[in-house]
Amino acid sequence: MPHETRTTCPYCGVGCGVIAKVDEHGIVSVKGDPDHPANLGRLCSKGSALADTLSMDGRALFPEIRGERADWNDALDLVAQKFSEAIAEHGPDSVAFYVSGQCLTEDYYVANKLMKGFIGSANIDTNSRLCMASSVAGHRRAFGSDTVPGTYEDLELADLIILVGSNLAWCHPVLNQRIQAAKQSRPGMKIVTIDPRRSVSADLADMHLMIRSDGDVALFNGLLAHLASSSAFDHDYVAAHTTGFPDALEVAKSRTILDISQETGLTVVELRAFYRLFETTGKVVTCYSQGVNQSSIGTDKVNAILNCHLATGRIGKPGMGPFSLTGQPNAMGGREVGGLANMLAAHMNIESEADRERVQRFWNAPTIAQKPGLKAVDMFEAVADGRIKALWIMATNPVVSMPDADRVREAIRNCPFVVVSDIQKNTDTAALAHVLLPATGWGEKDGTVTNSERRISRQRGFLDLPGETRPDWWHMAEVAKRMGFAGFDYAGPAEIFAEHAALSAFENGGSRDFDIGARANMGADEFDAMMPFQWPQPRGMAASTTRFFAKGGFYTPDRRARFIAVKSGRDDRTGSDAPFILNTGRIRDQWHTMTRTGKAARLSSHLAEPFVEINPADALELGISKAGLVQLENGFGSVVLRALLTERQPRGSVFVPMHWTDEYAADARIGALLAPRTDPVSGQPALKHAGVRVRPA
Ligand code: SF4
Repeated sequence: MPHETRTTCPYCGVGCGVIAKVDEHGIVSVKGDPDHPANLGRLCSKGSALADTLSMDGRALFPEIRGERADWNDALDLVAQKFSEAIAEHGPDSVAFYVSGQCLTEDYYVANKLMKGFIGSANIDTNSRLCMASSVAGHRRAFGSDTVPGTYEDLELADLIILVGSNLAWCHPVLNQRIQAAKQSRPGMKIVTIDPRRSVSADLADMHLMIRSDGDVALFNGLLAHLASSSAFDHDYVAAHTTGFPDALEVAKSRTILDISQETGLTVVELRAFYRLFETTGKVVTCYSQGVNQSSIGTDKVNAILNCHLATGRIGKPGMGPFSLTGQPNAMGGREVGGLANMLAAHMNIESEADRERVQRFWNAPTIAQKPGLKAVDMFEAVADGRIKALWIMATNPVVSMPDADRVREAIRNCPFVVVSDIQKNTDTAALAHVLLPATGWGEKDGTVTNSERRISRQRGFLDLPGETRPDWWHMAEVAKRMGFAGFDYAGPAEIFAEHAALSAFENGGSRDFDIGARANMGADEFDAMMPFQWPQPRGMAASTTRFFAKGGFYTPDRRARFIAVKSGRDDRTGSDAPFILNTGRIRDQWHTMTRTGKAARLSSHLAEPFVEINPADALELGISKAGLVQLENGFGSVVLRALLTERQPRGSVFVPMHWTDEYAADARIGALLAPRTDPVSGQPALKHAGVRVRPA
């Protein structure tokens, strides 16, 4: 029967609503949902091509044990047995889950509950560590909670949008469309991009600051010092709602404008023009993304930005605020359920005894993790050195996406027991699984996701489940039951979501930002009909557009925000043996490691093969010709790519997209060149900056 279903796009953190139509021949088509507040009917190239990605090519359709088709019961029994044996022999910290911002909230919730409350370890981390961890850490340092204060509407209300480390036009295209439409109707609106390369987003901006890699702390410290003695400084807000301003200012003032010019590579004229624009424009939104987060000083960058908004009181008000743009469709939902190794469920704190006890009591769990677990890079290090005896990887491809990817591949290959839950059976990671569990994909699975503006939306299935595929939450719940744990007998995602909502409200009383108690105990029909809404929505409250912190009310013990004194200083990994800075990022039409977008021919017509962008003058010096093959190498590995000569790339640096895997192109996994170097606060790897040698291949 023909039918239409309202669901959401499974790619970026914009979280667009999609209407999927299945016609009488079973042909699927998609269009933007005009009623979804995130996109109001718009879609980008990736979202528009979703129907082209539904082929069964390469799909994992039944469980496999060591590459042989297996019965579900045998596969699940084996997983439960191996995890139980490892825990009995080596303790709970000898097992680990590595999950994904692609998981729905319900998948994440069950995985987190099993690991933290029943196995008793916090060794559950996620590929969101590669994407969002520095934002989370920066929010928590400043606000006492992982709270995005604003909404997408602010991007349209602002008079100045600053994009820091964000190629919005390619990575969050529908938000870019919204901003461009707002700018068209209000030409006075200004856009500034801060990016070491001239991206397509920079073409659309009024000002492009071609900053040196990792110069952001110096830039925003300089802005803080400038604002402190300007009319934009909000004495009343700082006095009433914050602490730590004098220390932050003292550190910021320790650099002269000439020092900042040297650290950022920007001229004094550029710096003064930017500072003056920020000072004189009341409605400012500073959006930041991976160029900020994926750095060994990512958390400091985040706090340098937050400091400037706190100093001006430009936070949580229409058209004002710092805005973290999440990379993945459900990185935010993962944070809400505590799916990071250093978090607990429902934005509770794993380092708080009271919070641990509260969550354990709510779950009626036999135990609770007592300390943070291994973050992604440390987790794979523990796999490599044999501390992890059983590893479960869900909906992600770390053999491609992790730094030092060749070592990660060897670590997984040598791990005594590896489970992979995935929709594709030919990924670089699935090839290493002892047990492969076939998961449901977009169009089949049911649950919720949360986008960058804290909006929770339903993702609905509209296709029959192919083969013997089952949802990820079901994989986890079935193994939990086989390990002898009660509390995992869920009839479906509605029950899981209702439990998650009830936990968010449990003994909350306004002490925690994440509260969706109004959705607790909802039934399956209500869940099915649920419209997109923004959190918080405590019990008894109607859904509404919410901004945080306009009048303070932070989630620190004294309810005041913290200015963080952050020292500037670049973390330069280039040297005579690797003189070029390697920058990485996304392209417009591919998603992550291409397991879905690689199936859509029209998406490959934009940029069909892996490439390296290099400045023509550097290419000339190195003897690299247009479209010639180039080898990049360093102490970690080597890749071979097509040269794309462009003035957009500053001299001394190269840019390579992150997407290609061995499945699509030999020797193009850029993760092989990236050091497993992390931000000391957030544990996020510095995927945007490595030193490399460059030569013709
Ligand atoms: Fe999907 Fe993001 Fe494009 Fe929206 S902007 S259609 S969520 S990829």
